[in-house]
Amino acid sequence: MPITRRAFALGGTAAFAVSGLRPARAQTTARLGGMQIDMVTDGNLVLPRDFILGPMPDEGVEAILTQYNVPEGALTPPCNLTLLRHEDRVILFDVGSGPDFQPTAGLLPETLDAMGLYPEDITHLVITHGHPDHIWGLLDDFDEPYLPAAQILMGRVDFDYWTNANTVDTIDAARQSFAVGAQRRLAAVADLVTFFEDGEEILPGVAARASFGHTPGHMAFELRDGSESLMVIGDAIGNHHVAFALAGLALGFGSGSANGGANAGVAD
Ligand SMILES: [Zn+2]
Repeated sequence: MPITRRAFALGGTAAFAVSGLRPARAQTTARLGGMQIDMVTDGNLVLPRDFILGPMPDEGVEAILTQYNVPEGALTPPCNLTLLRHEDRVILFDVGSGPDFQPTAGLLPETLDAMGLYPEDITHLVITHGHPDHIWGLLDDFDEPYLPAAQILMGRVDFDYWTNANTVDTIDAARQSFAVGAQRRLAAVADLVTFFEDGEEILPGVAARASFGHTPGHMAFELRDGSESLMVIGDAIGNHHVAFALAGLALGFGSGSANGGANAGVAD
């Protein structure tokens, strides 16, 4: 009997489960009218401290981190994605790091499996911006779309930035690999992408809100059912301790930066 990729993947998953090595996954669920919103972990990043804090003005940032017991050395920001189940739609906001960015990230497939979801179950993938921890999971180990049934929705401005051949030359040197990686992955799925602009209701109850800055076309999303709403903010907030303590402080990131921060306002 031939071993299909699907069987291979399932076999690997089963072995993982039997071995008892599956990490526990805390689950956070919010409800908004008929919407169910879950935090979905993709793991965490390990980033040099200066990568995130270096560009920030020195206004007591380190003191704030100390106050919240953030250890010295590398920062380990969590990568939290948002999963929205609404009527017959299963909508994922960002697709995580995939297999090739950092060994501590790219855990989305295991998380979905633990939730009883197959990649084929995701009907829509909505992208906040083109950083590695948000889009490198577009392709699986075989360079095929990880979410084969998902319609992909992405803001036009950020797509154009990351697929522009000049971006690799204009982005800062530490992030050139981000540009190369984004261009390759977005080119592979370009035919599957539906583009949108600021203010559009891209799906029922999901409105796109421009939050340009972290990247040139970064988008946040307002989820609404009835009188209540919730924002999926992507990386519009970087380090949450700093952001809430110094709400007026600009992140200090250039157009090509990544901070690996939490994805959703509902979690973290
Ligand atoms: Zn980012």
